[in-house]
Amino acid sequence: MIFSSKLIEDAVKEFSRLPGIGKKTALRMVLQLLRMDGNEVDEFTGAVSRMRHGVKFCRECHNVSDSEVCGICVNPGRNRSQVCVVETIRDVIAIESTQQYSGLYHVLGGILSPLDGIGPEQLNIHTLHGRVKNNDVTELIMALSPTIEGDTTVYYIARQLNDLPVTITTIARGIAFGGELEYADEMTLARSIAKRQPIENYVTMK
Ligand SMILES: [Zn+2]
Repeated sequence: MIFSSKLIEDAVKEFSRLPGIGKKTALRMVLQLLRMDGNEVDEFTGAVSRMRHGVKFCRECHNVSDSEVCGICVNPGRNRSQVCVVETIRDVIAIESTQQYSGLYHVLGGILSPLDGIGPEQLNIHTLHGRVKNNDVTELIMALSPTIEGDTTVYYIARQLNDLPVTITTIARGIAFGGELEYADEMTLARSIAKRQPIENYVTMK
């Protein structure tokens, strides 16, 4: 793509860094911005910049938050005895969108994958034991990828917590979840959470 303006070329280059945005789409976005009022463009770039610099990670569940503790963790209406363990904040958004889950979350930030150099230290696993113990959590719902790495993570966590009286369940399989959770339709996902299985049954199912 040959540009007659270096400024436009630079902007196109920045947009095309985003996932799923090729050069042509990036150019379309940039040309749209060019048609917009200057103040509107400032609002747009301002929102992106404020988001990047202002978003924090909840110190309880590691979800994204505008404050030290996220809106889900501080909500007195949530069931504090249930914690759903997920890989990413996208999974939290997907499960929240079902409006069928009223417990809390724990965002791991990924799953164990020794081949990719991801061990327990790279994930938010170390805070889970204390969280379960100090908050009388009775059920941990594992909503991780149905892969070897996902299973390994479930068993690792189960071993870490085996001194605590907590039931560990996994959401029903048959739908793509974990990293794919956001693509499952809300009804399927809600059903999958409702039909969760204790981890023992999960072992015999395999
Ligand atoms: Zn939180």
